[in-house]
Amino acid sequence: MGPLIDAYNAVGSPDWRTQLQGSITSADALAAHLPVDRDAVAAVARVYPLRIPRPFLRLIRSPQDSFWRQAVPDPAELADSGASPDPSEEDRQSPVDHLVHRYPDRVVLLISNRCALYCRFCMRKRRVGRPVNIDWPQIRQAVAYIGACPGVREVILSGGDPLLRKDEQLAETLAALRRLPQIEIIRIHTRIPAVLPERVTAALVEVLKQFGPLYVNLHFNHAEEITPAAAAACSRLADAGIPLGSQSVLLKGVNNRVATMRALMRRLAAVRVRPYALHHPDPVAGTTHFRVPLAQGLQIMRSLRGHISGLCVPHYMADLPAGGGKVPLLPDYWRRQGGHVEVMNYEGRLFQYPDV
Ligand SMILES: *Cc1c(COP(=O)(O)O)cnc(C)c1O
Ligand code: SF4
Repeated sequence: MGPLIDAYNAVGSPDWRTQLQGSITSADALAAHLPVDRDAVAAVARVYPLRIPRPFLRLIRSPQDSFWRQAVPDPAELADSGASPDPSEEDRQSPVDHLVHRYPDRVVLLISNRCALYCRFCMRKRRVGRPVNIDWPQIRQAVAYIGACPGVREVILSGGDPLLRKDEQLAETLAALRRLPQIEIIRIHTRIPAVLPERVTAALVEVLKQFGPLYVNLHFNHAEEITPAAAAACSRLADAGIPLGSQSVLLKGVNNRVATMRALMRRLAAVRVRPYALHHPDPVAGTTHFRVPLAQGLQIMRSLRGHISGLCVPHYMADLPAGGGKVPLLPDYWRRQGGHVEVMNYEGRLFQYPDV
């Protein structure tokens, strides 16, 4: 164990289960803390569940801040019923329950429907927080499916949040995957360090360490989410030798400004989390009020590359409709002009580049 983990255990962490159970889950409880319209929140929460852990609640300052926008139910969630609950058609690409198989060499295994905080913009709103039980026989069936696919080299554990599973259940799943000889890497997608950092216990880190090569992709959308507690959770994972990446979502009113996005990406790299993807928001029912034009995302990407360290520049990704998969979107940096290629640098200056 690293010195940081020892120090963390010495000061004693609040138990994450207690924190999870103490979360705000009703409109009444929320209205006792924030100036919300109780009935409006209740109407939204009946369709899309509400959960905010108390430490996260204490970060909320006003309806305009990133914490409020991401966590507090908004009547706008009920106003876009024309949108699809599953535009990228994960459910159609699900050969067995709780598994999405879209690409030739990797699959997503959804091992939990719960999250510590129900993000209002979630692209899996159709299933997270729903009382659809994911039981172990189903997970074992999904693992058996993976075992029968020799081309699959990577399994991505997602959900919901896979780290809301008990340590023993995670260990059992990881061990079962490791028994499949064709599985080279395992990836975990989690928002836990941002929303319930106490869950990253020394015991959890010990479990994850046993089943490498294992990558953990975190999910932060604003630099102010990387609190001292969140940064310490990232350190505990990084000190254990677990490579950390991040996935962020471009969200209107949260991070769709150049300065905000630059600060987020720099802060991630500073806590040893390598920005991996910036996702353009999918047109998912209940979330479309967070969407911004593609042109704005491209403009933000242009303001990152060259201006800040390349270590802080993620790929900007759009998930295509109808199961087309994710594609990177890039600002236009070059065009062919007669016999040569004209390229624009990060400052907007034009150069002629010698092609062959
Ligand atoms: C995003 C995604 C992946 C992972 O894609 P990468 O390009 O490897 O990050 C795998 N399967 C599905 C279904 C996905 O949506
Ligand atoms: S943690 Fe992830 S899966 Fe859970 S609600 Fe937020 S975005 Fe959705």
